[in-house]
Amino acid sequence: MSNDAEMSAATPASGVGGHDGLDPYGLDRDGLERLLVQELGEPRYRVEQVHSWLVRGIDDPTEMTDLPAGLREELSRRFAPTRPELVAHTVADDGHTHKLLLRFPDGEAIETVLMLYPERATVCISTQAGCAMGCPFCATGQAGFRRQLTAGEVVRQVVVADAALRSGVIGAEHLPDGSPERVTNVVFMGMGEPLANLPATLATVRWLHDPQGFNLSARSITVSTVGLVPGITKLAELGLPVTLAVSLHAATDDLRDDLVPVNRQHPLAEVEQAMASYRRTTNRRVSIEWCLIGDVNDDEVQADRLAAIARRLRAHVNVIPMNPTPGVRWREPTRARVDAFVRRVETRGAAITLRDTRGRDADAACGQLLASYTLGAGTRLPAAVGAADRVDAGLSTVDPAGGSSS
Ligand code: SAH
Ligand code: SF4
Repeated sequence: MSNDAEMSAATPASGVGGHDGLDPYGLDRDGLERLLVQELGEPRYRVEQVHSWLVRGIDDPTEMTDLPAGLREELSRRFAPTRPELVAHTVADDGHTHKLLLRFPDGEAIETVLMLYPERATVCISTQAGCAMGCPFCATGQAGFRRQLTAGEVVRQVVVADAALRSGVIGAEHLPDGSPERVTNVVFMGMGEPLANLPATLATVRWLHDPQGFNLSARSITVSTVGLVPGITKLAELGLPVTLAVSLHAATDDLRDDLVPVNRQHPLAEVEQAMASYRRTTNRRVSIEWCLIGDVNDDEVQADRLAAIARRLRAHVNVIPMNPTPGVRWREPTRARVDAFVRRVETRGAAITLRDTRGRDADAACGQLLASYTLGAGTRLPAAVGAADRVDAGLSTVDPAGGSSS
């Protein structure tokens, strides 16, 4: 079967790994109901039964012991779960961060990161193998786009992390005191641009929020986007107030055109408007992500403009110092520079938090995920070509008094 990106996006419920059956994790409640009730003539309560096995990580119908034997056989014929293989499991931060490298049957590998806090277990999930957006500071962006993940493949990452947490794959010696036994939060901050894979992203949000599914509140789900405006509108239409995080990284179009090349299609003013409208529709505060890059976007002009945008939107800014990546020439700013930036935004009346750099020693901070041995030269936005050079060329013409170095 083809692993063509368009096809897998259009048929989120079908397997992409060499079989044509249904991936049960690609079926939401409606999909299960269509299959079990409408097609197979089963009573409605079967939907809950199958669903609850799936939530517990069981996708093999022969193990669904409360189903009649005939139905188990029928489902075994129809289901073809796209089970990923756990290729590597790296532990960092004294057992607080777990990076899982998962490989799907067609050979594409993605990363899922589980971060444990005293009262929170957050999974950072991927929505694409690679990414086409080509942000020049991002490892995934350098690798380019490989293919879309199906809804089942995205949901599966949460199921795998949850099962690992409960089953002891993530052993007790790794678990910090008081960390929950189930996944409590999900962030779409792994590989890929979630709003460039809307079918899978929206289906996953529904799955996670379903009271009979993972039962996560909308606010404990965060979708991070580079600012794809039509996608933000679609996310708002979903009617669930999930947290929207927009990766801004630059507060002038000049710089953002190259640091986040898709800005050429959706410039700052348009993105800001979409964020304001998301806030109005969902009544949910939006976040701004800012990857702070030494001598690139850590100057006073950027800080002031960022503060103004954040104030207008009443948005919360999360700053994360750039995680150095092979092939990326920039560095994280000095500690003094980071502190000065954060203080300046704060004094101008915007809410801002300096995020920790989780998983750095495992090469696994969110947004910094690279399965280097499978990712080759994928496709990227044309605007991404030469973006890093243009950023540096632009900076050399900026007056150092404005805070940028030459
Ligand atoms: N594509 C989406 C979600 C995945 S990236 C997006 O861009 O928002 C998740 C976050 O990690 C983004 O805010 C991204 O800008 C950030 N990121 C990417 N590369 C990084 C790096 N080298 N260091 C720190 N953060 C990085
Ligand atoms: Fe893609 Fe996000 Fe990386 Fe940009 S930062 S290349 S959108 S994953």
